[in-house]
Amino acid sequence: MFVVRRRNVLRPPADWRGGREAFGSMSEALWENILGRIRTQHAALSRSWFSQLVLVGLSNGVLEIQTANAAQHQYLTNHCVAAFSEAAQEITGRLVAVRFLAPPQDATAAAEPLSFEREPETCRLNPDYTFENFVVGPCNQLANAACVAVGENPGTTYNPLFVHGSVGLGKTHLLQAACHRIRQTNPAAKILFLSCETFTNHFIEAVERGALHQFRYRYRYVDVLVIDDIQFLAARERSQEEFFHTFNTLFQAQKQIILSADSPPKEIAGIEDRLVSRFNWGLVARIDRPCLDTRIAIVQKKAKVRCIELPDDVVYFIASTIDSNTRELEGAITKVNALAQQYGGRIDLEIARMALGDDTTIRPKEISIPQILDAVVNEFNVRLSDLQGKKRSRSIAFARQVCMYLARELTRLSLEEIGKCFGGRDHTTVLHASRLIRDLRTRDAELDRTLAKLTEELRRR
Ligand code: ADP
Ligand code: MG
Repeated sequence: MFVVRRRNVLRPPADWRGGREAFGSMSEALWENILGRIRTQHAALSRSWFSQLVLVGLSNGVLEIQTANAAQHQYLTNHCVAAFSEAAQEITGRLVAVRFLAPPQDATAAAEPLSFEREPETCRLNPDYTFENFVVGPCNQLANAACVAVGENPGTTYNPLFVHGSVGLGKTHLLQAACHRIRQTNPAAKILFLSCETFTNHFIEAVERGALHQFRYRYRYVDVLVIDDIQFLAARERSQEEFFHTFNTLFQAQKQIILSADSPPKEIAGIEDRLVSRFNWGLVARIDRPCLDTRIAIVQKKAKVRCIELPDDVVYFIASTIDSNTRELEGAITKVNALAQQYGGRIDLEIARMALGDDTTIRPKEISIPQILDAVVNEFNVRLSDLQGKKRSRSIAFARQVCMYLARELTRLSLEEIGKCFGGRDHTTVLHASRLIRDLRTRDAELDRTLAKLTEELRRR
């Protein structure tokens, strides 16, 4: 009985196959690991029918698990959310939420519905992806402000809103936060949030099954359409064509369109010009990698959301060790927390070092002040003695501020320690310098490139 249902109705949705969010071929092993962990760590909660559950996939940060009947659904929802979330986080190393899906109303229905017809009218969002849980720093200020504005006045401020940045920097989080905000003020708003992969898969399915009408009805009669990772539209001609018309219909009706991608519109190869130009009609906002201060605030916030107590030195250690992206930071918190559990629960620097120390790929090389000085001397054509001395001429003061900024970003030295290396300046001077350069960097593309190059060189040494 169950097997039949499973084949007909509980087929994983189309985006399970290739979506970036999906676990792909890892899924089987991953799911087995999650179940295994629950069996060993929560034996009392465990039931033999857990093996019948189907992992549907990871959608917008929520791991969805299909139940076979109402009793299972009720039991899991009432008792097992925490255990499954914990296990899923440990196994995936990501802060995912877990949701148990109720069985379909009519599991024996003869005609198989289209995938998008099986999904609820309005989208599911990760409850943690809110503005309150998002740390704003120089790296994401504009994108955050734009999402807030769109969240408060959809369809009228920036349309479309296009957010881009590399992986793990908070695009999905911000897009969902905008949706949460829209929903707060207008619970009836029809919001469709989906990955680009889902859009194209639904489109292909609709074409194959002669159901374009239903597809268009679904996508063109919404108040807000959010498509995450639009770069996956590249080189898919028919999907692009369809999306072009979807876009035009929604835009003309003043419905809000929000898009994200890993690069700015004109740099996505394989996207038609007419789409690129439309992507630029509204506001294009970039998210950069978070600086140290922002990373510290993110670690603090993530720990708080998960009720994990992290001492300040551990927060600093994690934020300064891992500087690639925010998802890695979360993975690090999970690792540290998991190891601490094995050692009695207390988290301290020792545990953090043990947890992250073995992973040499994420540990950047120690960079020293002399190396920074050396790099800046070469790049800015100033004398070493001037940098460390008291001279205040503009070019020297600027190069010195760059040094302080780099020291703050790339070393673990405190403000005081950095100040001492530069003619005994006090910590407020260092703080001011690093803020100033960070701020300039967001406005001055050439400086940004120079600093990125210097950072890269220093890391390679
Ligand atoms: P992207 O979509 O850009 O790949 P995500 O939105 O999935 O990135 O972000 C990865 C993880 O990092 C998410 O769990 C998200 O909550 C978190 N994150 C990213 N930036 C921030 C931030 N500024 N404040 C809080 N959490 C963040
Ligand atoms: Mg994303």
